[in-house]
Amino acid sequence: MKFTVLSLFPEILRGFFESSIMAKAVERGLLSYELRDIRDFATDKHHKCDDLVFGGGAGLLMLPGPLGACLDAVGAKGKRVVYVTPGGRLLNQAYARELSREEELVIVCGRYEGIDQRVIDEYVTDEISIGDYVLSSGETAALVLVDSVYRLVDGVISGESLSEESFEGGLLEYPQYTRPAAYGTLRVPEVLVSGHHANIRSWRLKEAVRKTLALRPDLLADGVLTDEVRRILLEISAEGGCDGHHKED
Ligand code: SAM
Repeated sequence: MKFTVLSLFPEILRGFFESSIMAKAVERGLLSYELRDIRDFATDKHHKCDDLVFGGGAGLLMLPGPLGACLDAVGAKGKRVVYVTPGGRLLNQAYARELSREEELVIVCGRYEGIDQRVIDEYVTDEISIGDYVLSSGETAALVLVDSVYRLVDGVISGESLSEESFEGGLLEYPQYTRPAAYGTLRVPEVLVSGHHANIRSWRLKEAVRKTLALRPDLLADGVLTDEVRRILLEISAEGGCDGHHKED
């Protein structure tokens, strides 16, 4: 899969693509990327890329000319082109998974008040928001999007690591512990050091349900629940609800 990112500040993005798991995936040929500086496509001597908004109001808007030329240079038409914007569809795990099946994603980072609507109409297939808040720039949002998508591309991370993560099966992930078994006065739940795999699985599922009920009940309300999860919900309710979801059994 290829990520092509268009930005007025591509240097903000470069470190991410050159580090850690992403860099390894690029080295292994699973992923590639291209960072384009929109300013390279400005036509005046000051490399101007923004101007006042028609109709008045505070702030500046990115000019359609340089951005459109940059999109043409990467052959955006016919590709999946994302504009990251607070006015977009909310990103979630299912959406990230869908995008991870694309051959290429072209991502436009906004600045100032955003981009001219005509560029959206002409090139953009997906307007995506990473959350209900306003950032000052699209670069951080683009990195969130890329990070959520690239790790789902086949071969980048083991399938086993992905299958038990938050949002799989409509649940948050269960609490996890590492060495030492005793950290100050706090001990790892006994079941996790018992070596009894069936009990460990049951404990993890119940804790995942408990945590989801406490922190993200909307996931349980929206998702299709298995019979086992339904039974656990009844059990938790009989025990008095989801208080103390971090505590040991
Ligand atoms: N005037 C815009 C509005 O009210 O919707 C906000 C513009 S924001 C200050 C500048 C840029 O940051 C946007 O063009 C977009 O690329 C990016 N951005 C800000 N918040 C975002 C979010 N929640 N999700 C995705 N991108 C965001």
